[in-house]
Amino acid sequence: MRQLQFDTYTGNIIEAKLDYWQDIEDIPILIRNFIYEKTTNYILRDEDNNKNYCPICTHEIDEYGFCQNCQKFCNIADDAEVKIFDIDKIKNYAFFNTYYIFDVVNNEVILYVIDECVYYDHPNLASPYRIMETKIEHAYHIFNNKIIDLKGNITYYYKNIDKQNKKDDENYNYRIDNYLNNYDGGTLYTDNLDLLKDTIYRYTNIWEAKDYLKDKYLFASDLTYIPLHFSCFEYLIKDKFYSLAFDNPHLLKYDNEARMLLNPNGEYLDFMLNNNFNFYQYKAFQLCKIKDMRIINFIERNLYIVEKILEIKKIDIVKLYYYLKNQSVNIVEYRDYLKLAKDLGYNLKEKNVIFPKRLMEEHNRLFEKKYIIIDKSYDDKIKEVSSKLIKNKYEDKNYVIYPASSVKEMLEEGKNQNNCLRTYIEDYSNGNTEIYFMRKKSNLNKSFVTIEVKDKKLIQARLKNNLDPNEKIMKIINKWLRN
Ligand SMILES: [Zn+2]
Repeated sequence: MRQLQFDTYTGNIIEAKLDYWQDIEDIPILIRNFIYEKTTNYILRDEDNNKNYCPICTHEIDEYGFCQNCQKFCNIADDAEVKIFDIDKIKNYAFFNTYYIFDVVNNEVILYVIDECVYYDHPNLASPYRIMETKIEHAYHIFNNKIIDLKGNITYYYKNIDKQNKKDDENYNYRIDNYLNNYDGGTLYTDNLDLLKDTIYRYTNIWEAKDYLKDKYLFASDLTYIPLHFSCFEYLIKDKFYSLAFDNPHLLKYDNEARMLLNPNGEYLDFMLNNNFNFYQYKAFQLCKIKDMRIINFIERNLYIVEKILEIKKIDIVKLYYYLKNQSVNIVEYRDYLKLAKDLGYNLKEKNVIFPKRLMEEHNRLFEKKYIIIDKSYDDKIKEVSSKLIKNKYEDKNYVIYPASSVKEMLEEGKNQNNCLRTYIEDYSNGNTEIYFMRKKSNLNKSFVTIEVKDKKLIQARLKNNLDPNEKIMKIINKWLRN
């Protein structure tokens, strides 16, 4: 309850307006320091000349991290964050960091979404110099059944959010955040979570997940709709099942589903708890039923490809894991091989067809058999396909995602990324699959992530050398897919 006060206009006794932070000056200094520290703890690196620069004045720093100009040391430890810039173009570029901050006023909860923008185009200086701008993007007043955006004076009811998300079965929290008009994931200030103990959050026990949440890339819904609206959140947290509690709200949709998950058949429960399973690890576990996290994580990372392989042929995934390890070959290559073998009419019951002695040799041999002559007709078809797919183009403050638009582009991406993109030229030109490139806005000419999508599902997203992108990049890609 807020304080009662006398309204001089109407002569009635009314509740006082909730007092929330309007300006930067309203934000407590401890929290402003937290935002500043998190935003500024990086160095600038130009990969083209392999030099490091001071994040404040952009002068080159020496091997000890010392900036002559500022007379101070920058953090150049191995685990320090590095922002990759083309130092000559730094004035064209800005980057954004989003922070989530809880505050409690008279036992009522407000969640702030604060944006910190950093750019280097100082209006009064000829040479680049860092400018930071803090902006309170949203102030959400949180209730058990709704969220009020205090700045826009808009009310979002959880039951309407439910309706919106009914059809989605996976990752649907991105949609929720779009629904809240909140598009940026960010970092939570966890030091004050204890404040929530005497509020509507009292049953969620969310503060127990403090350490888990500290380094996590979060959306507003992860901190509001999910903990407050799903009753099983409480016992997932109590059991320290943090990944399931926060990442997989679709599991929590029906209490019974989550209970079943937590109690698959007793004997695996401890193992799942000890390893803080997420939903995809659970799905992977169902495919191998083996208490070995290396294998489970391998399947989880490649879940969609594993499912595709199983569609072609029901094979023992544990055997496949050891086989691929022995051959030092990526599972994507195996999927391509198996598909080629099937298309060419090989007998998939034979052991030397399923697990050939030299996989890559066989892969290449079968590929040559179906050899693609890259002629003009492919290029024309690809131009047509990409002109249709361009509607799926994604752009945010830092990244763009767009469809491959020519054979040349695909050959170059394959070469840069050291992947086998050329083998997708035929499928892509026929519309059997979709190929997209994700690039950093700070370096649009450089390959970053190569993405394959089919039937609106992500098949693979790969960095150079077929490596997996980190969690943050995957979240952005998933967000894009959901839209
Ligand atoms: Zn400096």
